Amino acid sequence: MDELACRNCKFIISSHSSKCPICGSDDLTSKWSGYIIMLNVDKSELAKTSNIKTNGVYAISIRD
Ligand SMILES: [Zn+2]
Repeated sequence: MDELACRNCKFIISSHSSKCPICGSDDLTSKWSGYIIMLNVDKSELAKTSNIKTNGVYAISIRD
């Protein structure tokens, strides 16, 4: 899998980037599984409880 997930906010970065575009963290990992697509963070309860503020694709779990 080429995609990387940010360990800090779980945002999935599809290109070979060295930094998370959402939170600016460079702590990225390829060891993630499952993903959720956030389309309406303003209205989504899941986004609120997950502290997600930007629409996009997020990993469900990140393995260490
Ligand atoms: Zn991030």
